[in-house]
Amino acid sequence: MSDAIAERIAKIRPQLPPSVRLIAVTKQVSVAAIRSAYGAGIRDFGENRIQEAETKQDQLQDLEDITWHLIGHLQSNKAKKALELFSWIHSVDSLKLFQRLEQLAAELSCQPEILLQVKLRSDPNKHGWTIPELMADLPVLNQGHHLRIRGLMVIPPAAQKDEEILAIFHQGRELADKIKQQNWSNIEMEQLSMGMSADYPLAVQAGATMVRLGQIIFGERVN
Ligand SMILES: *Cc1c(COP(=O)(O)O)cnc(C)c1O
Repeated sequence: MSDAIAERIAKIRPQLPPSVRLIAVTKQVSVAAIRSAYGAGIRDFGENRIQEAETKQDQLQDLEDITWHLIGHLQSNKAKKALELFSWIHSVDSLKLFQRLEQLAAELSCQPEILLQVKLRSDPNKHGWTIPELMADLPVLNQGHHLRIRGLMVIPPAAQKDEEILAIFHQGRELADKIKQQNWSNIEMEQLSMGMSADYPLAVQAGATMVRLGQIIFGERVN
């Protein structure tokens, strides 16, 4: 199994520009498989559930240079735990959650790196800011002093054609560039987290700086 994981990683790497950060998504993946990916050079790992991440991190404490990324929806009551477990949170998806995290980060004196999750098509299954909502909230987001806003996360709705997915990714890139041009003092827009196993080449084409890959590295999830 470990050979297969290392081989898949070795195949994907050369397809990514050196500036693109590969985040291995390990939801439902065993600790042994995570160790294999680590052995193949991966240092960024993504999880979407707090409890699952905590259990695994406990068993991986010897791998000290892992950076953990939270990529799934975060409920306010788990926000404190999230700050303890993750140095990046890609899925900050509302002003309310942002403000809760900002308050907790002040209390814990930590400075997590966060991305703002945007929703570029209406999708009842997805969280995130619409473009007008985000533009309206920027002045308030700019007042955060503990959370370090580094960019955006984009997730297209399921089952779209490549053309449509590419259009959404381009829109994500344009939105990040537009916000960047506004020169906010506390909002950076250098990072764009988009692209999963099925669509990461399109995301890279549109200017992603982080891709979140699960199944293409670890094999199909059964759920
Ligand atoms: C599960 C998940 C991924 C990885 O999806 P794969 O199809 O396994 O590559 C990426 N991003 C988010 C937000 C996810 O929940």
